[in-house]
Amino acid sequence: MSWLATGRWPAPCPICRQWTRGGLCSPCLQRFAAPQSRCTGCGLALAADALTAARAQAPRCGRCIEDPPPVTGTLAALDYGFPWDGLIGAMKFGGRPEMAGLLVKPLLEAIQQDQQHSAKAVELLLPVPLFEKRAQQRGYNQSWELARRLGKALDRPAHADWLLRWRATETQSLLADPAARRANLRGVFLLSTAGSRLLAGKRVALVDDVMTTGATAFEAARTLQQAGAAQVWLWVLARTPTAAPKD
Ligand SMILES: [Zn+2]
Ligand SMILES: [Zn+2]
Repeated sequence: MSWLATGRWPAPCPICRQWTRGGLCSPCLQRFAAPQSRCTGCGLALAADALTAARAQAPRCGRCIEDPPPVTGTLAALDYGFPWDGLIGAMKFGGRPEMAGLLVKPLLEAIQQDQQHSAKAVELLLPVPLFEKRAQQRGYNQSWELARRLGKALDRPAHADWLLRWRATETQSLLADPAARRANLRGVFLLSTAGSRLLAGKRVALVDDVMTTGATAFEAARTLQQAGAAQVWLWVLARTPTAAPKD
């Protein structure tokens, strides 16, 4: 594991290059990872004035109230943008899975401060799987790199081989229509023998690095629910902000 990512020795913060001991320095975390009120369905940031005291524990945007996603709750730590896009890109495409050691920190912090108390509910963690061929090419699944570290920090088991993905969905980003995206994803995920034997009744956290439309993660969540999971939480490091109307 790279000394840069462990945070045990002084090293330049990968964002501001100031020397620090914690991987990402505290001023950068305060500046770029400040907690935000987010929809507990889709993870999008909500306008602060949209929150009332009664709804503050598990606020949902208008779209998620109208069409609830198949999750118990979603938690997103960050907006996908500067500087996280570069760091996540290095973890994902730069052949640097050890970057997960550094990127897991803001996600862990958000989970520990989650108003929905999802960390208490969750019994086990599963990464959103990559298509096998893609995982083999890359040599690792970045969501697993996050999930296993979260599991260790939260003292919960994480399983890389319960939820599987059996085909790629290359065309997903070309489909603008949500119904077409959903149809394209149908049947993409399946459970391994261990997964289908042990999942029933469990409260699960599904871990992903980036959530764009949510279609892929929601399809994975649907698969887990259909297999009998009692709760499916979605924990994502970074959510793509969209121009969706804020409620
Ligand atoms: Zn910094
Ligand atoms: Zn929402």
